[in-house]
Amino acid sequence: MTGSSRGIGSSIAAGLAGAGATVVLNGLDGGRLERARSAFAAEFGADRAHGYAFDVTEAAAVDAAVDRIEAEVGPIVILVNNAGVQHREPMLDVAVEDWQRVLTTNLTSAFLVGRAAARRMIPRGAGKIINICSVQTELARPTIAAYTAAKGGLRNLTRAMTAEWAGAGLQINGIAPGYIHTEMTQPLVDDPDFNDWILGRTPAARWGTAGDLLGPAVFLASSASDYVNGQVIFVDGGMTAVV
Ligand code: NAP
Repeated sequence: MTGSSRGIGSSIAAGLAGAGATVVLNGLDGGRLERARSAFAAEFGADRAHGYAFDVTEAAAVDAAVDRIEAEVGPIVILVNNAGVQHREPMLDVAVEDWQRVLTTNLTSAFLVGRAAARRMIPRGAGKIINICSVQTELARPTIAAYTAAKGGLRNLTRAMTAEWAGAGLQINGIAPGYIHTEMTQPLVDDPDFNDWILGRTPAARWGTAGDLLGPAVFLASSASDYVNGQVIFVDGGMTAVV
């Protein structure tokens, strides 16, 4: 599970662990990752909680980490591509470096980690890949152009993976969370105007919680979804269903 040292990734990993999975946590900051791993170990047992710090945007680091995880923990049967970053700035002012950082972290990473995992899953004839998308997979907003492009791309990467790998027994799907209260969105929660806009714009009239994502994640990680291919489940309180 990439980007699982905090936020949504950590919550989904806990949901999968609660459903019986052995989890491999990942993040960039080794200290934060170790704190998360040790909390998981206390809750689920040390043999079911592992941590590997590596940069999901670096192809060589990804390939090396997947090799180590398969050798040291066991076969990867479920991959969740969750690592992501946001960058808020009017598009006219966005520097190429910021554009590339957002595209690479949110989109290229899913290709790199997905490819490394699929190379192992395909010969075994089974595997589940869940790509964490967003409301911006479907809809745009001002000031988050790179994120919108990346999350839209992630939906079609989900379809491309399906086109190439579903025949080998893999299911690749996405979860598109709506506005979920996490560290990433704390500045938005703290902004009264934006907070009011969310409550008015979301049919469910509330922010989402990480817990709202657990059921869909367990579904897509389990055999209950064995004939679900290339889909994105929007868990957004109905935001993308209404204008
Ligand atoms: P977050 O709290 O900022 O956590 C991001 C995670 O990704 C951290 O574990 C971070 O590790 C890791 N990460 C970032 N860059 C990385 C890299 N290059 N290599 C490895 N790990 C990396 O984010 P979040 O709000 O939980 O969001 C998680 C995912 O859900 C993202 O894909 C986001 O786009 C998506 N999403 C979020 C919301 C929302 O409302 N929050 C809504 C829709 C979709 P470190 O701690 O080491 O930096």
